[in-house]
Amino acid sequence: MIVGAGIVGTYLGAITGDMKIWESKRKLEEKACSGLLSVTGLKQLKLPYKEAIVNEVKGAEIYSENYSFTVKKRSTQAFVLDRYILQKQTLQMAEDNGCRILWNKKWDGEDDTYIIGADGALSKVAESMGIKRRYIFAYQIKAEYKTDSELVKIFLSKRYAPGFFAWIIPEDEKTSRIGIGVKEGNLRNALFEFLSYKGIKIKHIKKEEAGLIPIYEDKKMVNDNKALIGDAAVQVKATTGGGIIFACKAAHILKDAINRNDLKYYETEFKSKYGRDLEMHLKIRKMLNRVDYDALLKKLIKNNVPEIIEKYGDMDHPRKLVKQILMKPALWPLIRYVI
Ligand SMILES: Cc1cc2nc3c(=O)[nH]c(=O)nc-3n(C[C@H](O)[C@H](O)[C@H](O)COP(=O)(O)OP(=O)(O)OC[C@H]3O[C@@H](n4cnc5c(N)ncnc54)[C@H](O)[C@@H]3O)c2cc1C
Repeated sequence: MIVGAGIVGTYLGAITGDMKIWESKRKLEEKACSGLLSVTGLKQLKLPYKEAIVNEVKGAEIYSENYSFTVKKRSTQAFVLDRYILQKQTLQMAEDNGCRILWNKKWDGEDDTYIIGADGALSKVAESMGIKRRYIFAYQIKAEYKTDSELVKIFLSKRYAPGFFAWIIPEDEKTSRIGIGVKEGNLRNALFEFLSYKGIKIKHIKKEEAGLIPIYEDKKMVNDNKALIGDAAVQVKATTGGGIIFACKAAHILKDAINRNDLKYYETEFKSKYGRDLEMHLKIRKMLNRVDYDALLKKLIKNNVPEIIEKYGDMDHPRKLVKQILMKPALWPLIRYVI
């Protein structure tokens, strides 16, 4: 049985086929998400994303208090997707492949041959395995805001988004998804205070949503006949909070583990294939949480790091980029954070 018909539970169902999926909600609902997914990640997966594409982005503008830089590639690096359409498609794919979605069915400790916890950030299955998690609290609005539709904006601010960042993800030149992640406090206030402090003028808020981002840690993913996947397994990039690509990659390994009747294979294989990337995201996050953002950006700009990012940057797999950056002696002081 899969617990949770979210994007990850339905994707796992879709590629495995003939699964029972328990879902506590009565029907498919919108979920707080920016829907920014890397082109390379999507192309490696079987996610039916094409109908969900809202925009294509080629790079990002990174801001600290007093410095900023832009990285932009020639080709599309990420798609901005309609998360609801994406999930509707995955759900359809799961049903087409023989899965049964049992709506309004909340898992509360029931047993089965396998219990696959795809039940999100507040996973009951993870709780039943004694696993605790920490979170970033995120708030996002969709509003009218004039911007370059090919660039995502990332704002690093210890004052407004300590432990995370604020973002503007364009749907087109006129509309953006604008959000913030914080460790504690009033989320909505944090976002609007940040916007007013930065002088970012928005019009016509069309949607407001809040959500939890679990912070990645190297946690247990399997116990007896239980396995965790997606946000339940904190397969989330600690730099950005993006969780869909790694979780869907995990689904392919879990499918193999189920076919081999060996859930332990899933944990070992996932950690050996993707553990070092997720660890690197975590190290970068820890470094960001400790440094002064102005000093960091000043140093990165002085050492031509934006050009290195343009050449080696990869939204999901940062190790190659980090290696290149650390070839600059002036940036060696950062080594203590990432090694
Ligand atoms: C503001 C915000 C922006 C984000 N932006 C991005 C982004 O741009 N790119 C990206 O890759 N990721 C992003 N993420 C993260 C991404 O949304 C998650 O990683 C992803 O949705 C996790 O999917 P999931 O299927 O694991 O969990 P969920 O989508 O949360 O699904 C879990 C499902 O399980 C069900 N459930 C829970 N408990 C039970 C139970 N006991 N019994 C039965 N069913 C249950 C829930 O109802 C839900 O349907 C963002 C997250 C937030 C909060």
